[in-house]
Amino acid sequence: MKKLMAANWKMYKLKEEAKDTAQLLAQALTGALAADREVLVIPPFTALRAVRKAIEKAPGFSLGGQNFYPAAQGAYTGEIAPDMLLDAGCSYALAGHSERRHILGESDEFVGQKVSFGLSSGLAMILCVGETLDERQAGRLDEVVRRQMAAGLAGVADDVAPECLVIAYEPVWAIGTGLTAGPKEICGAHALVRAILTEKFGDKARRMRIQYGGSVKPENASEIMALDNVDGVLVGGASLSAESFSKIVTA
Ligand code: PEP
Repeated sequence: MKKLMAANWKMYKLKEEAKDTAQLLAQALTGALAADREVLVIPPFTALRAVRKAIEKAPGFSLGGQNFYPAAQGAYTGEIAPDMLLDAGCSYALAGHSERRHILGESDEFVGQKVSFGLSSGLAMILCVGETLDERQAGRLDEVVRRQMAAGLAGVADDVAPECLVIAYEPVWAIGTGLTAGPKEICGAHALVRAILTEKFGDKARRMRIQYGGSVKPENASEIMALDNVDGVLVGGASLSAESFSKIVTA
């Protein structure tokens, strides 16, 4: 099971800049990427093809989409279908990122539709879950993560390939804020995610990856990667520079 080191570029970078960053990343990591690590670049849609070209010869690299609509095609102005992501070279997609839940108003159920539709379309899915600061302070971490995972995984078949389902635990209060969850908080939440996966999928849950996300940077990456049940990271801000993200990948 390779550790999944993902760069979420959100709504940053025009095509040329995205291509340059991807090329620098591929150069920096060629020959330096450990055999048990996979690098996933998730650029804006408009840069997918340029980034694909920049990483296609780099061993251990994959491409992902930040979002899609759970339908094969149709009258959904402004949306993109899983087949379009696959056609652009993606093998992964995100669902349930906190920015989509909290800014775009996506519900747990809609996120669940995306996870099952994406998987059945042939994408590996990263389901993001995590509590707000108010929810954590009110002692509601378990309840929130259980609710998001129950709805997010409701339509996922028992025979799903374990390498195709990834959970990213991202406490909302740590995303883009500079605040990172401490080792105890990360271990506790990741053990909970593993337990929920095991309740649903049995033994196979050991081969499903759990990423941590929330202000991961070169200075804290190795400590986070060494924790139990941390099978990779999902990085926003610190993934925008090839220099800082390559340090995270090799941490
Ligand atoms: C993210 O976008 O998923 C994220 C964790 O962002 P940041 O690393 O900037 O906190």
